[in-house]
Amino acid sequence: MAVIKGKKPHVLAVPYPAQGHVKPLMKLARLIARHGIKVTFVNIECIHEKIVAAAKMSGSEEEDDQEDGDIVLTSIPDGRSPEDDQNNSFKLLESLRNTMPGFLTGLIESINRSNGDERVSCVIADISIGWILETAQKMGAEPVIFSPPSAAALAIVLHSPGLLEQGNLDSNGTIKKDEMISLSDNIPPWRKDELAWSFPADLETQKIFFECSLRIEKTIIQTKWLLSNTCYDLESSACDLIPGFLPVGPLLETNNPKSLSNSCNFHPEDASCLSWLNNKPPGSVVYVSFGSLAVLSQQQLDELALGLELSGMAFLWVVRSDLANGSRAVYPGGFLERVGELGKIVEWAPQERVLSHPSVACFLSHCGWNSTLEGLSNGVPFLCWPYFADQHHNQNYICEKWEIGVRIDPEENGMRTRHEIKTKIEMLFSDGRFKANAMKVKEIIGKSVGEGGSSYKNFKTFVDHLSK
Ligand code: UDP
Repeated sequence: MAVIKGKKPHVLAVPYPAQGHVKPLMKLARLIARHGIKVTFVNIECIHEKIVAAAKMSGSEEEDDQEDGDIVLTSIPDGRSPEDDQNNSFKLLESLRNTMPGFLTGLIESINRSNGDERVSCVIADISIGWILETAQKMGAEPVIFSPPSAAALAIVLHSPGLLEQGNLDSNGTIKKDEMISLSDNIPPWRKDELAWSFPADLETQKIFFECSLRIEKTIIQTKWLLSNTCYDLESSACDLIPGFLPVGPLLETNNPKSLSNSCNFHPEDASCLSWLNNKPPGSVVYVSFGSLAVLSQQQLDELALGLELSGMAFLWVVRSDLANGSRAVYPGGFLERVGELGKIVEWAPQERVLSHPSVACFLSHCGWNSTLEGLSNGVPFLCWPYFADQHHNQNYICEKWEIGVRIDPEENGMRTRHEIKTKIEMLFSDGRFKANAMKVKEIIGKSVGEGGSSYKNFKTFVDHLSK
């Protein structure tokens, strides 16, 4: 169906409901809005409420109408009933698949009715909810996909049907023999249990993830536009494997950290860590964060606390209220008193501002792709502690390809000991190569998002097309 346009372009941006998906799509939305294009950003209701509440608690300057320049934040129901298990993400996905097309159709109809000059002309959908592109097309809007993870992560997903067919993978998506999977000499290989859908602790769950991966290829052929939060200069070989791929990243926070739509945090930011950082010497602090989803057992949390203490380094540690296996953390006896001013713990940090702070020396990270890009963009070396999804492969990029970090290796029982943590912190501080390499990557990225760079040009191509 042809795109039906009003006088002005109007983009509807729809993220997958997770922190690591909402944030980068909002950064893309802000870039688009800065070019004078109206954007309506659609979260499901529970996420919208979290963002509004977190922004208010962090002291956002936004008014109640939730409008920010030409970005309007709005919400649709997620289709679940109160009796449904609200923590079951598969049930949520099933409900979104069934109900989102209807709710979005209603929303687009109401926008188009209220102002014919600003009809929705384009829908940007997160790749994980690509089924809404059909709704976009039915409503006369141009369908666009946004892919938040690395190009390598998308490339392996797109290769999954072939790998299954050739017998490299079994029907659960597990690498069959004791092999590695390599897509190119310039991309680190994937070892057993490092694939984007790997979930060895629960093969049923892994199979669901794997089946979703097998379907992604069908999603992307629905659109000419496949935007991604990476940059060509960072992963050219992986980008080359994906037809029609348009890397526009890294998408970074704008310089208005107090704006509601800028941060899109699910938790209120604790900015007190910035003044704490101001009192620390340059390059002296280990920043520790596991993103929005990963959890630690209480025993592992104890080992980490004691490892940080043993290292004798200053540390800023994000301990979400559910980090200890869904519960509030309990620290080893006397830990907080012993570390005193050397340690700062917050429930949620303004991460990009932390990573750009001169006092931060390195990032102990779960290697989520957003965190990886944010560290890279600021020239910060990594201590890697991946959990699932693409995080293992991001670690391989960090340690094997860019050589800007080291792994904190688990024992056979999966535990990372305090001694391993201390040893790796010392290794990173004592070898200047990691920082030097990280600064080189920062420069490469800076060029790609700067005027005339590859991501800059790709974004311009897209935004010029939207404005036509
Ligand atoms: N983040 C943040 N403050 C924190 C921890 C994380 O703002 O204290 C942000 C971080 O900057 C990143 C996102 O949350 O943009 C997490 O995304 P990522 O892909 O790294 O991990 P995920 O949460 O998806 O596992």
